Amino acid sequence: MHCLDCSLANETRPAVGICTTCGAAVCRDCVRVGHNSVPHSTGFSSADLAFTEIRQLACLPCATALSARHAREYGFAPPTLPPVETQ
Ligand SMILES: [Zn+2]
Ligand SMILES: [Zn+2]
Repeated sequence: MHCLDCSLANETRPAVGICTTCGAAVCRDCVRVGHNSVPHSTGFSSADLAFTEIRQLACLPCATALSARHAREYGFAPPTLPPVETQ
């Protein structure tokens, strides 16, 4: 499988993972690695909750969208791509 975003830009790069939000395959350059907290019950009361932190992969558009309102929850790493030249 190849990276969706790179394919849309007419580049072919092997995928290293899948965005868990939109299902797109992502390459090493496009993947964003974050985390998410999943609640689980530790008892019989609804207050008996604990959270397990799991890894979450995202493509750049989804990481950007999720980080806009949930930056603390997901904690996606900043882009690893070099900044786009402005000139
Ligand atoms: Zn890519
Ligand atoms: Zn996505």
